[in-house]
Amino acid sequence: MIKPSQSLPPFADYHMHLTSEEVACRMTEKLSEEVLGSFKPSRRNADDMIAVLDASGVQKAFALSNAYQWGMDFLNVPAEEEYEMVKFENDFTAHEVAKYPDRLFPFFSINPLKAYSIEEMDRCVNQLGLHGLKLHFTNSNVDLRQPEHLAALKNVLTHADKLNLPVLIHFLSRSPQFGAGDAQIFMDEIVSKLPNLKIQMAHLGCGGFTDKMIEMFDAFIEGFEKNPQLDKKRFVMDIAAVISDGSKPLTMALTPEQEIRITDQIRRWGVEHVLFATDWPIFEPAEYVAMVKTKLHLTGAELETMLQNKWLFED
Ligand SMILES: [Zn+2]
Repeated sequence: MIKPSQSLPPFADYHMHLTSEEVACRMTEKLSEEVLGSFKPSRRNADDMIAVLDASGVQKAFALSNAYQWGMDFLNVPAEEEYEMVKFENDFTAHEVAKYPDRLFPFFSINPLKAYSIEEMDRCVNQLGLHGLKLHFTNSNVDLRQPEHLAALKNVLTHADKLNLPVLIHFLSRSPQFGAGDAQIFMDEIVSKLPNLKIQMAHLGCGGFTDKMIEMFDAFIEGFEKNPQLDKKRFVMDIAAVISDGSKPLTMALTPEQEIRITDQIRRWGVEHVLFATDWPIFEPAEYVAMVKTKLHLTGAELETMLQNKWLFED
């Protein structure tokens, strides 16, 4: 029996961000302290990422492009400049991961509501050789309750399915109505209709800390229990940055009740369908393992299952 304190380091960190100098500067310039809190955007390249992985003994990572941020309304990027900068950021990702092809699995990104989405997907796959797609619904102002947004998203995800791209989604709209109904639309209109598309939901199902996350995780747990044809082998949750004592920027401290509640949810969902992930630069892997061990009440064996998950690296 392996005790948690003796566990191996995580096999992979399934959610880490690469950031160009350019996007870091633009974020710092345009986003208020109210949005960023104590988070300081700065350039993070593949060497930085590998140094962090090595310090924690982690072998592999999903390296995410922040290109979607160039299509974010708050950054006020002029229309004629926007697609150029999206390409620039995805090029930066390709250039960086090429230094460590055996360790970094690259995800390009786009704002799925933009006219250039499909063109950029084809370019990233065919010219840059990138093999995952990251979408951030809050930054891209995607609201599934709006028919034209849902249509655009379906178009992008149908194309991702055709290109055999796994998709990592930060799911949270800016609508005050956002909740279980959105999870239902997503399961009915996307997950059920694209049975081969591999989907990773960031932050245990919803990028809205913490009550909203618990509500959304419940909605997915119940949705999958009611529809046994939905397959968790191709629909997983990542645990990026949601288990916190609030000491890190952009995170919230869990109450003891929330710690118990989330532990129960992870068990009910199935710990084998949860990926270890830090949202680096928010956390580094070793410190996040320690946080997860302290805050969740998982057994040593459950923790090992999560930390050693090989997800897409096994295919
Ligand atoms: Zn993230």
